Amino acid sequence: MRIDPPQHLAPAPGTTLPANDISEALASRLRSETQGEVLFDAASRGRYATDASIYQIMPVGVFVPTNERDIEIALQIARELKVPVLPRGGGTSQCGQTTGAALVLDNTKHFRKVLEVDPDAGTAVVEPGLVLDHLNAQLKKHGLWYPVDVSTSAQATLGGMAGNNSCGSRSIAYGNMVHNVLGATAWMADGELLQFGPVAEATGRTREIADFVRQLAIQHRSELQNQWPKVLRRVAGYNLDIFDNQNERPYTRDGSVNLAHLLIGSEGTLAYTRSLKLKLSTLPKAKVLGVINFPTFHSAMDSAQHIVKLGPTAVELVDRTMIELSLANPAFRPTVETALIGKPAAILLVEFSGAQKADLLPQLKQLVELMGDLGLPGSVVEMVDEARQKNLWEVRKAGLNIMMSLKGDGKPVSFIEDCAVPLEHLAEYTDGLTEVFARHGSRGTWYAHASVGTLHVRPILDMRVDGGRKMRAIAEEASALVRKYRGAFSGEHGDGICRGEWIEWQFGPAINSAFRSIKQHFDPDNLYNPGKIIDTPRMDDGNLFRFAPPESSRPYKRIPIQPVLDWSAWNVHADPVTEETTAPGTGGDVSQGFAKAVEMCNNNGHCRKFDAGTMCPSYRVTRDEKHLTRGRANTLRLAVSGQLGPDAFTSDAMYETMDLCVGCKGCKRDCPTGVDMAKMKVEFLAHYKAKHGHTLKDRLVAHLPRYARLGSRFHWLLNLRDKLPGAAWLSEVLLGLSAKRSLPLWRSDIFWPSIQTSGHFVNRDQILEAARQGKKTAVLFVDTFNGTFESENAFAAARVLRAAGYALHAVAKDDGHHCCGRTYLASGMVEEARSRLRDLVGALAPLAQAGIPVVGLEPSCLLTLRDEALVMGLGEPAEVVSRSAFLLEEFIAKEARAGRFSARFRAASAPILLHGHCHQKAFDAVNPILEVLRLIPEAKPELIESSCCGMAGSFGYEKSHYNVSMQMAEASLLPAVRAKPDAIVVADGTSCRHQIADGTGREARHVASLLSELLEVQ
Ligand SMILES: Cc1cc2nc3c(=O)[nH]c(=O)nc-3n(C[C@H](O)[C@H](O)[C@H](O)COP(=O)(O)OP(=O)(O)OC[C@H]3O[C@@H](n4cnc5c(N)ncnc54)[C@H](O)[C@@H]3O)c2cc1C
Ligand code: SF4
Ligand code: SF4
Repeated sequence: MRIDPPQHLAPAPGTTLPANDISEALASRLRSETQGEVLFDAASRGRYATDASIYQIMPVGVFVPTNERDIEIALQIARELKVPVLPRGGGTSQCGQTTGAALVLDNTKHFRKVLEVDPDAGTAVVEPGLVLDHLNAQLKKHGLWYPVDVSTSAQATLGGMAGNNSCGSRSIAYGNMVHNVLGATAWMADGELLQFGPVAEATGRTREIADFVRQLAIQHRSELQNQWPKVLRRVAGYNLDIFDNQNERPYTRDGSVNLAHLLIGSEGTLAYTRSLKLKLSTLPKAKVLGVINFPTFHSAMDSAQHIVKLGPTAVELVDRTMIELSLANPAFRPTVETALIGKPAAILLVEFSGAQKADLLPQLKQLVELMGDLGLPGSVVEMVDEARQKNLWEVRKAGLNIMMSLKGDGKPVSFIEDCAVPLEHLAEYTDGLTEVFARHGSRGTWYAHASVGTLHVRPILDMRVDGGRKMRAIAEEASALVRKYRGAFSGEHGDGICRGEWIEWQFGPAINSAFRSIKQHFDPDNLYNPGKIIDTPRMDDGNLFRFAPPESSRPYKRIPIQPVLDWSAWNVHADPVTEETTAPGTGGDVSQGFAKAVEMCNNNGHCRKFDAGTMCPSYRVTRDEKHLTRGRANTLRLAVSGQLGPDAFTSDAMYETMDLCVGCKGCKRDCPTGVDMAKMKVEFLAHYKAKHGHTLKDRLVAHLPRYARLGSRFHWLLNLRDKLPGAAWLSEVLLGLSAKRSLPLWRSDIFWPSIQTSGHFVNRDQILEAARQGKKTAVLFVDTFNGTFESENAFAAARVLRAAGYALHAVAKDDGHHCCGRTYLASGMVEEARSRLRDLVGALAPLAQAGIPVVGLEPSCLLTLRDEALVMGLGEPAEVVSRSAFLLEEFIAKEARAGRFSARFRAASAPILLHGHCHQKAFDAVNPILEVLRLIPEAKPELIESSCCGMAGSFGYEKSHYNVSMQMAEASLLPAVRAKPDAIVVADGTSCRHQIADGTGREARHVASLLSELLEVQ
């Protein structure tokens, strides 16, 4: 494969090798001399070509070191071959500092340990790839935390935070990264490992560096004092002011100088961080929140300067647009309403925190009084209860996500979103910037850190049309305002590419040349992240854009694709001022919206999180960028825009990228921009399989609904697979089904033949008549899995609904049964799935139209009616059915809330443990099971905080997936089940139950089965 010559390699100074040969030599030496992963193929490099900025630069290659020796050798090889080096954490930077034509070293897989915690001293030593939330989880037991609480805390690494001098929402109380680092060890460009810490203790080379920088600071004293922004939030350039503090807050408690602070904010350009010594803070035990409602945006901005004098730990802004967006979301509306008084133009969330709530109440009172003094009596909603506060902070985050999920080519672009101005000028500054946006046909939605004069605002721009031009024009006018108010142009997200050229503008030529001297002193050969901070490119160089404009060297073009699913909802244009989108299908995408859906990934890296949500189970196991929602979306984007060569979309490399996606739909729910990789996988598989053909295993899995009835007749024969010695092995060899797995047990007593004799169901005419008479009715949709392998669940559901007084009908066919097409979708046979779904929808639609709810048991099957069925071109009947389709627990919970569910239950004999199926989580259908389980007297169901069980349909049965599948299960589900040996385990997913049985030997039950067993006979 040919590797494009990277900019900083062509020609490689001091070598005679052409750039391509250097890349090959680099890869070959890394492979032979280290134990790390060497990723030089186009798709891998492409996955590391972007961060959360608008830029894209292909790296020379990617290296994932496994130990420190690997890093040292890699640095040495890169040095010898004169290949630049780019250390990387989560890759969530917004300014392009984590993109470069370099060897990218990914620290996140193997360098994520807390090396040391000293609770008494309040310090911790950490590796650079450790994620902030993971650190704080480990500190909690000591009553400590690391308080630089960036919004990306679930994915940002300490190394990256140090690289960017990151700042959190509570920086007014705790300062920025630079205020909270006590020391660092780092590899210099020549390979020497140095210890950076208090200058007073420096010896040898660090002493010499300190003397050099001190001399520079003395030499530039007057420029430092005159040109340096005097705000807390200044993160641009190098911290030359450590020797002559210009920050609002001293860098050290005692005013001494710490040389490690020079590395903070250096964006990987000075040294490669090996470890960081952090200053920890006491975890506040109590918090109170005052929500101030303002009649005008200007008054909110003007008040911030007075509010901060009360000593809050956070003052965060939410503007009218954000309020409206949140109110439009039914899940958040009730929470937002509790914070509002009338229809405010903006609200400020003012938080006070400390050791005891009683100490904080006077501060809240002072806030109320202050607002009275400022002419706004009665404007504060006081929130003392922490659950209410937490809900409101969640809404503030969700508002941003809604903004980022804007469909169409124009996107909210981050380039002036963290300018910091002194608080007394905040109101004039925001007024001025609003006028600037209007002049350029755009508009800004404002939010975030009013406490420190850093407001986030992103105008909507289309980078592939005129975004670059408008971005420069807006940046220039914004910079004039920043200068007028003596603020900092870069106040949170660093310099990277989009602010690099503003460094000289900000500090003047003399300080800029001092920065250059620092870089040369540390890294004379420009090895580390060249083109950042020093000699930066133009912010509007279209050649560096992810969506490069037509006049650039590699204009972004989508290749025509005829999708099998309907992606027209993404094929729209958005108005940059009103944010209104055009009608579906009018966006001019030659892939009918599929490419635009893929492009929704803005690389914020939220899918790297490990918290209670589902996204992304495959990454949680492998920690490979390739097996991450972001990695998949980036690979798809590069493929559908022709950047990975012809036919990349249906290549084996793409198959490998999509292979471990279990289709859990976690991303559909958890990704801030709604990237729905499960659906994208179906689309991809359809194209891939159309080209490469289906395997025998694909056919066996997909056609299960077709042969289920026949299989039940020959159950004794099919069950031999798990009885006859060698049969499982044979199925592994011939079909790729793991011999370590038992298969579901075939049996003769399947559901459908017994519909009429069971006494539970009425026929179609009778159910329609019952509905007409206003009786309680439901139609039970029994899926292939429950109907064939666990028909007792279907009858249990029927018993429960009948006991609660519902007339029931079950849809069936003479020659088999109706199915949702899920097995076909999972195998990429979309036409078969469409035909199955069309039949099912056809059977259900008249019933749904008559107002009869459709109730299902298997989450992935029933929810197909609410999801995939809507993008299969099945028209209005599919819409009608989707609105009437409920999981059993959703239906019972809804009916119980309305007082219509009359069945009663006995108490259970043991505690209840619940595992939610991924699709239940994706569709907010876990709470309803909890609600329903709470109908059982004395039940206190406990939800297992688990991601995907790892079985995911047929995924976990496959030999190639067995290990990953078990690792997914072992991540949290199986240990939680083992920890409660006496509990009743409830799991509605057929494959989840199988995984629990395989992994723990315990029998998990469908909620229907438990409810039926506990029915109180009336
Ligand atoms: C939605 C969103 C919200 C954000 N909110 C905030 C916020 O609240 N506050 C804030 O400050 N930022 C915020 N950011 C920006 C970004 O998340 C932070 O700067 C974060 O700290 C970067 O961490 P990372 O691990 O992703 O670093 P990366 O992007 O991987 O790296 C950042 C820089 O550090 C360098 N680096 C990484 N590791 C090393 C190492 N071992 N040695 C030397 N250099 C290294 C890299 O080369 C790069 O220049 C936000 C970004 C997004 C997308
Ligand atoms: S897939 Fe979603 S969560 Fe992951 S980086 Fe992209 S936008 Fe963020
Ligand atoms: S569907 Fe699940 S496994 Fe696939 S990318 Fe999304 S979160 Fe990851």
